[in-house]
Amino acid sequence: MTATPLLAIRGLTKHFPIGDGVTVYALNGVDLDLAPGETLGIVGESGCGKSTLGKAVLRLIEPTDGTIRFDGADLLGAGRGALKRHRQRMQMIFQDPFGSLNPRHKIGWIIGEPLTIHRRGSRAEIRAKVADTLRVVGLDAAVADRYPHEFSGGQRQRIAIARAIILEPRLVIADEPVSALDVSIQSQILNLLRTLRERLKLALLFISHDLAVVRHVSDRVAVMYLGRVVELADTDALFAEPAHPYTRALLSAAPRADVHSRRQRIVLTGELPNQASPPGGCPFHPRCPMAMARCRTDLPALTDRRVDGQTRRTACHLFEPVGA
Ligand code: SF4
Repeated sequence: MTATPLLAIRGLTKHFPIGDGVTVYALNGVDLDLAPGETLGIVGESGCGKSTLGKAVLRLIEPTDGTIRFDGADLLGAGRGALKRHRQRMQMIFQDPFGSLNPRHKIGWIIGEPLTIHRRGSRAEIRAKVADTLRVVGLDAAVADRYPHEFSGGQRQRIAIARAIILEPRLVIADEPVSALDVSIQSQILNLLRTLRERLKLALLFISHDLAVVRHVSDRVAVMYLGRVVELADTDALFAEPAHPYTRALLSAAPRADVHSRRQRIVLTGELPNQASPPGGCPFHPRCPMAMARCRTDLPALTDRRVDGQTRRTACHLFEPVGA
């Protein structure tokens, strides 16, 4: 990535003490950049830390350590007033569109609320902006007078997206935004997000367990395992030639449209380890079919490595760091 990042995350760490001396190590030193207008997909199994990452970036949960710079500003050092200002330009879309819409209010109130909170216009101006935004997300302006329960899942997600974009943010964090929807509706919402990205010059942090969905929308993909990024690559490169053994296993297990593919299915043994007692060395070693002796003791850094004559950013001892 060459453009100055809109979002620069360094060493982001989130540990949750849960009592009796037990700590859940949800994020363990995540470094990521996101360029203006870029879509970065975040994938991994449930419990890999991807949703915690999204919430930590917006400080919906407070990180334990690390830095986050948004458009050059230090987010973790920001006080309440500064954080409120930054949050106008950073929004989140959640998996459950019904849960994120207050059922007691009409759609017009729900979508216009961020403008009201931030005192962005008169009532008439807010009403007009809500009507415009409804049209942008593919809904009739007249739905402003109805309630959330009157809509389908796909329509509710369009409403949630309208609320997220009404302040014209530069960054949207979408956490499993289509996982609760029928497959036939998923592609409509994904196409809407792609259109909005172009139209509003939005950067998207797109979090999903679904590789096909991530492939459809992302410019680059970060693969997470036990609170760490283990591979980061352009989408085409990652899906054509995954480097990290975990990425290979994930891709080999995903359904493929190409029935002639010769990619061997790699069966991962064992469950994702407990986040409260992650394995030493490479956290993937208990499940890795390629594990070597050093994998049990040495944590591989996420760095540029030589992989079949290419430079790839991955955290695996199978590949020598560039320049080593
Ligand atoms: Fe497997 Fe070792 Fe690479 Fe970890 S470092 S992914 S255990 S080969």
